[in-house]
Formats: sequence, structure tokens, C-alpha cells
Amino acid sequence: MPTETVYGLAADALNGKAVAKIFKAKGRPADNPLIVHISDFSEIEKYRLVREIPVSARLLADKFWPGPLTIIMKKSGVIPDEVSAGLDTVAIRLPGHPAAQALIKAAQTPLAAPSANLSGSPSPTTAGHVINDLGGKIDAVIDGGACRVGVESTVITLAAGTPRILRPGGVTLEQIQAVLGDVDVDDAVLHKLKDGAAAASPGMKYKHYAPKANVILLKCSDDEYIDYVNKNSENEVAALCCDEDIPFLKVKAFSLGRRSDYPAQAHRLFDELRRIDDDESICTVYSRLPSSAGVGMAVYNRLIRAAGFEVIDLEKI
Ligand code: AMP
Ligand code: MG
Repeated sequence: MPTETVYGLAADALNGKAVAKIFKAKGRPADNPLIVHISDFSEIEKYRLVREIPVSARLLADKFWPGPLTIIMKKSGVIPDEVSAGLDTVAIRLPGHPAAQALIKAAQTPLAAPSANLSGSPSPTTAGHVINDLGGKIDAVIDGGACRVGVESTVITLAAGTPRILRPGGVTLEQIQAVLGDVDVDDAVLHKLKDGAAAASPGMKYKHYAPKANVILLKCSDDEYIDYVNKNSENEVAALCCDEDIPFLKVKAFSLGRRSDYPAQAHRLFDELRRIDDDESICTVYSRLPSSAGVGMAVYNRLIRAAGFEVIDLEKI
């Protein structure tokens, strides 16, 4: 199903057997839990999805639902273990896309839906991406056009102590702070997990969004970026860059949008990563280390994973 974030592969969230088929189609590790999608806030109580609804969840839902924010709460007994991957919590979201809402209403049950890609490849932002990854393995795709946000939802946990962002997305840290005040950002959002460390959000430990080419992030000024890429352009190099760079670059350029337009960059990121993957000739991709302000944090989080945390700091060379 289309959502405003990315396409989701949906099944009845209250039916463990149906949910197991999602894991099979995607090749998703069984310890990576799914987000439960609802079409109205009242369904949390109607289906008794959680043990209790914290006040902070109501505040967030009032402000950001329907929308790209997933809220983690303590789960009730109706949530199958397949959905929560053995955790005692459940992640819930009310998507903004009318087709997703209509599908949930028609199904008369909440829908568990991870991104509709093969595990490990970039999340799908068009119906074509879904067919490329899952064609033959799924029953149907509802084509709702390109996803507006283009990266997955912001995930926040309210299940323990201070609210904590586990994954950045279309709703920003700054917007959530304006509603809740104190908000933490999990270490795994911007940094590599130490070997053996447990991930608060299991999805964060997997190597996600990694194209076949080697992605390298450069920490530098705009001029230094162009200079470095042009000087290192011998071996099948491409640039994952911004519109303003294109006239100056001597290599294949894949633009994410204007330099200051983080929502545009989020919108295009996965599509550009898939286009880079389609070009067999590209071995190395240089991109800038993005800013982590606003929606930039979501771009930073995905790109640093695509790069396997490989950053060259040109100021230190
Ligand atoms: P996806 O739907 O493919 O975007 O993946 C859902 C993301 O939410 C993954 O990173 C999961 O690890 C995370 N997630 C889902 N449920 C929970 C939960 N109960 N606790 C922590 N993280 C969760
Ligand atoms: Mg996913």
C-alpha cells in the first residue's frame, strides 16, 4: 500500500500467520519488529492494542497524526509475537495517505506494514520499486504515485523514561521538542553501534540502504566537495549531490535537490540510490555529509548507513 512515507507491505496485524508471510516475502530478519497502522486514533482502544495510552502519546497524535510519526508504547496481549518480534512494546502509526487509510478501514483491522522492499535494499517510494523487489512474491500493489515524504517515519518510544527518537523521519526532533519538551535522540541515530551493543530499534543494527557502489561521505565546504570529486574522477565515480553542484561537476551527477531543501533531499534519496544501483558502471559515489538539522537528520541517518559510516573529513587532511 502507498503511504506518505514509503510503500508498505501490509497484512492483518492481529493475525500472526498473515504477518509471518511479510517476513518471508521481504527476507526480513525475524527479530526486526513491524509498525502497526491504524486509520483513526480510536482504534488503539477499540482493538486494545496497548496496555495504556500515555498522555504524551495523545499530545503527539493530536499534533502529528495522520502523518509520518510512529509511537512506541507497551503492547497488550492481542499483538502477535511476530509483530513485536518478542519485545513487550508495539509501534503504532496513523498514515496520512488516503489510500492507506481506506485500505485499513476496508480491512476492518489494523495492518502491520514494514517498507515493501527486499530486506537490505532502499525503501520503495514508487509502485515500480515495489514490483522490482517483490514482483511474484506478493498479491498486488495499490499504485498511489510517488510517496510525498520519501523516507520512513520518525520512530519515538514512550515506553521507558524520557521520550526517545529511535529513527528520524519526516517529523523532526525540533517539532517534537515543541510539543513534549525534553526528548532524547538514541545514539544509534547518528553514530555506529558499538560491536555487541543492543539496538533499541532492532532495524538500526542492520546494514540498510546500501547500494552496490561504495558510498563515501565528504565532510567539507561546497567548493571543496566539487574540487575533491573532480580530482578523484578517474574510476567510475558518480556524485550524489545538490542541484547547485551540477554545472561544476565533471562526473555523473545524481541530484537530491537544492542544498538548503532538506525535505526535497529526503523525498529523492531512495529513488536516487536505486538509480545509482541500476548503473552497473558506477563503483564509487561521493556525497556530502549532510546537516542533521530538521528533516536533514533523516537524510543524515540514511546516508551514513548507505556509506557504512565511511566519512572523509577534508578539514583534517
Ligand atoms: P520499517 O517498517 O521497515 O520502516 O521498519 C520499522 C522500524 O521500526 C524498524 O527499524 C524497527 O526496528 C522499528 N520498530 C518497530 N517496532 C518497534 C518496537 N516495538 N520497538 C523498537 N523499534 C521498533
Ligand atoms: Mg524497512
